[in-house]
Amino acid sequence: MSDIIRLLPDHVANQIAAGEVIQRPASAVKELLENAIDAKASQIKLIVKDAGKTLIQVIDNGIGMSPTDARLAFERHATSKIREAEDLFSLQTKGFRGEALASIAAVSQVEVITAQEGDELGTELNLQANQVVSQQACVAVKGTSISMKNLFYNIPARRKFLKSDSVEMRYIIDEFTRVALAHPDIHFILYNKDTEMFNLPPTHLRQRILHIFGAKMDERLVPVKEETELVKISGFVCRSSTKKHKSHQFFIINHRFIKDRYLHHAVNSAFEGLLKEGVQPEYFLFLEMNPKDIDINIHPTKTEIKFENEQVIYALLRTAVKHSLGQFNVMPPIDFSISERLDLPYAYKDKTPKMPTFSVDPTFNPFKQGQENQKVRVHSPQPSYPKKAAPQWESLYTGVPSKMNDFEPTQALSTPAELPFAQEDSPNLPPVKPTILHWAKKYLVTHVKDRLLVIHPARAHQRVVYEKLLNQQRLHGATQQLLFPLEFDFSPAEAASLQALLPILEPMGFIFETQQATVRLLSLPALLKESQAREVIADLLAQHMHGFPSTGDELSKQVAKRLAYRLSIVQGQVLLPQEQELLVCELFSCSDPERSPSGKKIYYELPIKEIDLLLSVKA
Ligand code: ADP
Ligand code: MG
Repeated sequence: MSDIIRLLPDHVANQIAAGEVIQRPASAVKELLENAIDAKASQIKLIVKDAGKTLIQVIDNGIGMSPTDARLAFERHATSKIREAEDLFSLQTKGFRGEALASIAAVSQVEVITAQEGDELGTELNLQANQVVSQQACVAVKGTSISMKNLFYNIPARRKFLKSDSVEMRYIIDEFTRVALAHPDIHFILYNKDTEMFNLPPTHLRQRILHIFGAKMDERLVPVKEETELVKISGFVCRSSTKKHKSHQFFIINHRFIKDRYLHHAVNSAFEGLLKEGVQPEYFLFLEMNPKDIDINIHPTKTEIKFENEQVIYALLRTAVKHSLGQFNVMPPIDFSISERLDLPYAYKDKTPKMPTFSVDPTFNPFKQGQENQKVRVHSPQPSYPKKAAPQWESLYTGVPSKMNDFEPTQALSTPAELPFAQEDSPNLPPVKPTILHWAKKYLVTHVKDRLLVIHPARAHQRVVYEKLLNQQRLHGATQQLLFPLEFDFSPAEAASLQALLPILEPMGFIFETQQATVRLLSLPALLKESQAREVIADLLAQHMHGFPSTGDELSKQVAKRLAYRLSIVQGQVLLPQEQELLVCELFSCSDPERSPSGKKIYYELPIKEIDLLLSVKA
């Protein structure tokens, strides 16, 4: 047989290798920012267009490159940072693999302008698919500007896999935040198109955290400090948290952001009993240790590392965090906010309680015989259901779409004369409603025509809220204006997410007003309570920043879905009979009553014929 092994052409090898280092615009951002830091820049400016798909440019005032170095920098395994394998164990720089620029040049069009201290002229270099297209001398200040244009222009398949601009932008903000946190002494600026999103002047860590995440965090920061021979631990943890996702968790080891589940576990266990179930601790922890005790070179993106003394570090970290939490008197949470979803019946959800009233009969004398002792009455507030909460049962299932017409209750039972026990002399007998049974606090069981329905109430309610929100958005429905607008102190990343969500939130009834750095919420959709607003908005922004689950739905559906999930009743919640009716009625007024917004079945139906069959009863 003939030989079949061939060496891959350079450009193919480069593209394959680039796949490991540059997966998305954010990975290029990370590499370029790190190169600027390694070049000892004190100011680094990042400019992105179309979430990095069109342009990522990093401008630094670092040491720059000579004309030859500028060319060589784009060769694979070209680095100024290590010379021999030994150097790997005394790394002081971010880079060392010499493959970032080669990878970037393999998947985009690159333009470099660079000059060193004292140079009269700098160098301008253009590359395409790793080939230098042009090189010339140019006027330039000390430092380097690298522009990476049209990422994956030559690999359409990879370009297709990129997520929406808002998702890719969030990845970029995440990388930018990590690098900026690891280097508070460097001035970082981020421009998204022409808008300045971040401008972080050189400062100390606490201030840097506040510049990035908003000044409100200040009161929650608890310092952590512990020094041992093996490791120096410093930074902050947050004394309370409501975050359900891991967005504010940072380990920075020797000025490099890393991900480490084991260390995360150490911090988590230090927080044991101090956070509510499912809530994530927030931390910004810096570890400094001898580079020879860690191995960074286990992953091309250098975000995972191996420690020589893993267990000792685990124990030290856990103790350090515990110690700080104890010193700063962080107590377990007292749960004042028992979820209203758990104990507030459905029909009360949008209601303000009425004050109890009483009336006094001034002529009442307790010593007079025969007077009824009932003149002083205290009315406890009666639940006031919305009008349609107690509908005539005939109209219970009206508005049902045509395919659901089966579910209209049978007219036969609606005329008293045909009621089984109807008496001739009681023509005004009230109509009988189809019974709804809240079975095992789990399901609503009802019947229509010749079918038995077993309904999942939480999913049904999600569907109802979901459609109401989308209708509201479409028709610009009723909103409630807040007497006292709610003020928010958003971090720049949250503000960016809010901007992206505004075109969806505004027609739903969330009206915001921005005055300099403060954002105020002026009104809400009618089906939301003011007390829920903060939590729901924070949740939406966090969801947006970390990418709504990629279900292929358009953004407004994802927002409505998330809101519906947050605002609807929970499974197992006690429902009053009127609430059960309202829910069933509203469900069958929906355009798609069969599936919850996330596609789960809402009810099960059992035709009477099947029961007949099972019981061998003749129909
Ligand atoms: P690495 O960072 O692993 O060395 P890169 O491919 O990222 O590999 O960069 C290759 C080389 O190019 C670096 O070692 C450095 O000498 C030079 N270089 C890259 N970016 C810059 C910059 N912004 N300023 C000065 N030199 C740079
Ligand atoms: Mg590098």
